[in-house]
Amino acid sequence: MAKPNPHRPFTPDPGFMALWPEGYSGNAVNGLGETGVRRPRMVWWAPDPDGPVFGEMQKWFYAHEPKDPDLMALRTERRAIIEAPLPDLAATPVQRTPEEWTGALARFVEAGDCEMTGVARLRPEWVFEHHETDFGTVIMLGVQHDHAELSYVPELRGGIEVTRQYCRAAAAAKRVAGWLRQQGWEAEPVTGPMTGKILMIPPALECGFGELGKHGSLINPEFGSAFRLGAVLTDAPFAVTAKRSFGVDAFCQNCRVCEDACPPFAITPDKQTVRGETRWYVDFDACIPYFAETSGCAICIAVCPWSRPGVGLNLADKLARRAERIADDPGP
Ligand code: SF4
Ligand code: SF4
Repeated sequence: MAKPNPHRPFTPDPGFMALWPEGYSGNAVNGLGETGVRRPRMVWWAPDPDGPVFGEMQKWFYAHEPKDPDLMALRTERRAIIEAPLPDLAATPVQRTPEEWTGALARFVEAGDCEMTGVARLRPEWVFEHHETDFGTVIMLGVQHDHAELSYVPELRGGIEVTRQYCRAAAAAKRVAGWLRQQGWEAEPVTGPMTGKILMIPPALECGFGELGKHGSLINPEFGSAFRLGAVLTDAPFAVTAKRSFGVDAFCQNCRVCEDACPPFAITPDKQTVRGETRWYVDFDACIPYFAETSGCAICIAVCPWSRPGVGLNLADKLARRAERIADDPGP
């Protein structure tokens, strides 16, 4: 039997709920129940909160968060990283084969800028409706959380770790974009959480970072869900990296750790149709009041068993061996 959830029952803050736009549902903005594929609309984390329908609630998030000096210093650091100018575009583009370009990304892992790199061709359905881009390729970057620190969520200490890794992800995206521009290739960094341009999770799935978990976040065999994403849009001729699956989807069917841990019951046991795709989906309207009140929550990614250091690779190996046994002997 699951342990009692220390964060339930949860009653949303009336001040936050009073800002909820009349008649709006974030799930509707996200395309829940829509069977056709379409480009996404911004629902939260808008770079300019005066625009989208949940902008006032996003402002409440920032007004409400604790003004802790470490958190504020990280916010300032992230802002400085984002606003720092990129190097000038070199006049003559360096030529490499697509495989050499993709291989060259390893330098950013070796230098400790990030822990994962991958490449996907940019699809129109990943680009927000309000944004246009001519770039055809997206480089994905993953930065790992310190799981011990992340485990403090929803307390501030866990949130500080989240912000720290958003800083690293932003710095990595700027560095990769700068490196490309110094070699004569246009590149545009995309930094979370206010990406404003593209969805991050679909290209991260496509480039092989992991599978989508029931909690709506990525699960990677080595890092679980304890990582954050950055991205770079470019036209440099990178080779794509392969999509991967390692048993997460089936595992989630039989696991309910995140469902039980989510204070506002935002994680549901079944997949749903969202903009033409049947997949795991977190109920935005249920999640966002708790997310806002705790300055980012993140309980679901911290408790996911794949996120525990040393667990994911063994689990993936076990699931692969089980799948092989079933393939060899499907039974009667
Ligand atoms: S982030 Fe949202 S979905 Fe995840 S545990 Fe918190 S409230 Fe639930
Ligand atoms: S906690 Fe369990 S059900 Fe939730 S995402 Fe992780 S593996 Fe899947």
